[in-house]
Amino acid sequence: MTLPDNAIEARGLVKTYPATKTTTEMRALKGIDLAIPRGSIFGLLGPNGAGKSTFINILAGMTRKTAGTVSIWGRDIDHSRRDASAAIGVVPQEIAGDVFFTPRESMEVQAGLYGVPRRERRTDELLAALGLSDKADAYVRQLSGGMKRRLMVAKAMVHNPPVLVLDEPTAGVDVELRRQLWSYVEELNHKGVTVVLTTHYLEEAEALCDTIAIVSRGEVVACESTRDLLRRLDSRAVVVTPEAPLIAAPDLRPFEAALRPNGDLVVTFKTAGDGVEQVLNAVRAAGVKIKDLRTEDPDLEDVFVSLTSGALAAA
Ligand code: ADP
Repeated sequence: MTLPDNAIEARGLVKTYPATKTTTEMRALKGIDLAIPRGSIFGLLGPNGAGKSTFINILAGMTRKTAGTVSIWGRDIDHSRRDASAAIGVVPQEIAGDVFFTPRESMEVQAGLYGVPRRERRTDELLAALGLSDKADAYVRQLSGGMKRRLMVAKAMVHNPPVLVLDEPTAGVDVELRRQLWSYVEELNHKGVTVVLTTHYLEEAEALCDTIAIVSRGEVVACESTRDLLRRLDSRAVVVTPEAPLIAAPDLRPFEAALRPNGDLVVTFKTAGDGVEQVLNAVRAAGVKIKDLRTEDPDLEDVFVSLTSGALAAA
């Protein structure tokens, strides 16, 4: 079989969680198109609730999509679920502890689940690659959180999948372990594994990923090379507290404006281009009376908001 250009392709992917007694219907993915190139380290970046885990759970076969198509390594998940599953390893967000197994046993069980023949198993190699050789026969409950997480990565690789997906791999992980995981991910990538990871740390995506998609409220609001995206993020924000509450953010083109829940108006501008004075002129020209103002480096939330408002998308 010729290798696919894209390790993962989603077209018009929709996921709607039905209403329950306590919640209304939730459209977690609103028809996303995403192509993840073979060989990349691809970052899915977005705030909590954006739909990242939903996307990954669909890939992993743990959540059923509502509509759209998905293929993994060229295999459609509806028509070739088994082949699609064989092509992907998923490291879930939650640390699941198999308290009664040792790491070695846990790896063997996992390999068994995937039908990997004994002679093709790579338990020792994988445990060594993740720095767990000396813990191979300890009880999993005796491992630190970081070791458990590394074991989860090792388990996701038992069937040697060409695509590895990591859901928030370093949430709550100390700096040293984060570096270790990053270098292992890079090593796998050099060996040809396509890596997809979700994170809400821009720093992590920046350090590792060659391509980044930003997801917000179930939509892909940007998808481009890390370099191009960072260039777009090279901006500062002026935060204006208006005299009177605003109903909506005024159109301040070429600047991007967004309202925060507390009523502050956040206006971002390119560091290389205009200055605060031009921003303030635009704010005043839009009829906004300024009660208070300050400048700050924009955080990702602001970037998400301005990307979703469409202002940047047109830039
Ligand atoms: P992320 O991983 O980006 O934080 P999620 O995919 O977990 O986002 O969630 C997207 C949206 O779907 C959120 O509003 C979340 O509350 C909702 N959601 C996630 N899982 C379920 C579920 N099992 N049932 C109902 N709603 C869900």
